[in-house]
Amino acid sequence: MNSTTRRIFIIQLAGAGTALAAATAASAATAAKDAPPPKAPAAGGPAMVDEKDAQAAALGYVADSTKADVKKFPKHEASQKCGGCQLFGGKAGDAAGPCPIFGGKQVSAKGWCSSWVKKAA
Ligand code: SF4
Repeated sequence: MNSTTRRIFIIQLAGAGTALAAATAASAATAAKDAPPPKAPAAGGPAMVDEKDAQAAALGYVADSTKADVKKFPKHEASQKCGGCQLFGGKAGDAAGPCPIFGGKQVSAKGWCSSWVKKAA
């Protein structure tokens, strides 16, 4: 290897290193983006969804399905409750469970929102 060839080799090596660093940084950024949102503090468990939260209000969430605003959400039916919703993360019989619509916050099994989807049998 003469000095010119060595210089070219070193320049190529530096270029490869830069590309590798860029790829690593890009993959780290993607991993950070795909990571689940930070969980609520363990003390006391995940928070309950507040009906007055902007998102809850927009979706018409109520902790008691019988209190749903049927004028605003005419498709609501009395039989529709979070406990019977496809998105309800609690087990059958649980009083509350996490809902992905609200970032995993707890919703009442007797609650309801306009994103209700019948749980598959
Ligand atoms: S998406 Fe389903 S489980 Fe979640 S709040 Fe609405 S009705 Fe309840």
